[in-house]
Amino acid sequence: MSERSAGTLNLIFLGPPGAGKGTQSRMVEEKYSIPQISTGDLMRKEISSGSSFGEEINSYIKLGQLVPDKIVISMLLHRLDHDDCKKGYILDGFPRTVEQAKSFELALAENGSFLSGVIAITVADEVLALRLGDRRVCKKCSTTYHLFHNKPKKDGLCDNCGTPLSRRRDDEPDVIANRIEVYHQQTAPLIDFYQNRNNLYLVDGNKKIDVIFQQICVIIDKLT
Ligand code: ADP
Ligand code: ADP
Ligand code: ZN
Repeated sequence: MSERSAGTLNLIFLGPPGAGKGTQSRMVEEKYSIPQISTGDLMRKEISSGSSFGEEINSYIKLGQLVPDKIVISMLLHRLDHDDCKKGYILDGFPRTVEQAKSFELALAENGSFLSGVIAITVADEVLALRLGDRRVCKKCSTTYHLFHNKPKKDGLCDNCGTPLSRRRDDEPDVIANRIEVYHQQTAPLIDFYQNRNNLYLVDGNKKIDVIFQQICVIIDKLT
């Protein structure tokens, strides 16, 4: 997995809920012109469509549990088939289990494709809870804000599309606590998984958003 096809940039952003994966991967999307793909966003879209599949997905998300691997893997692979992913992509929030990582590895190998790198953002649990409690999101374009650290230009409105901002339903204290626990149990083992493949780059997520972004760009520029 250390090689990759020339000209493509296939990245994974790993980290606990609230680490800043969405914020940073959106900035990378803009600078490097490759799509940010969030499995959470894909599933929230399905939920808001009102389908029974969406209802099934929501039964996990609302409790802060992971959606079963089969469902997530199939949604993700389907999304990666689109033309906009040909030059690369940034996965935000996938994989979240070793099973997902292994399936993805197989799927990449079948396509003769490679991962460029896995960027893991680290932040202490106490900070995560504070960030998520005051996170606000745009339901239309999925841009993420924070009441104090990443405010929109106009209070309560999305900078991109003017939509009134809302709070995600799983950003409630008891669900947040569950999501952080699920991260430690099921997702944190991926740090070792990718370290063993010499593909992991750790970034300190406690700094300011722009400082973290600069560090991420240094990493990416070495990959390209
Ligand atoms: P994730 O996608 O990892 O769950 P987000 O990117 O949605 O995380 O960030 C979680 C919350 O923390 C958001 O409200 C975001 O604006 C805010 N945030 C992101 N990065 C930082 C940072 N470096 N310092 C302070 N707040 C941040
Ligand atoms: P955050 O990074 O802030 O937790 P996400 O949008 O990535 O937000 O995820 C929200 C929820 O969607 C997760 O708590 C989980 O229920 C579900 N989810 C997202 N990605 C995955 C995944 N790869 N595997 C299983 N469940 C997922
Ligand atoms: Zn918006």
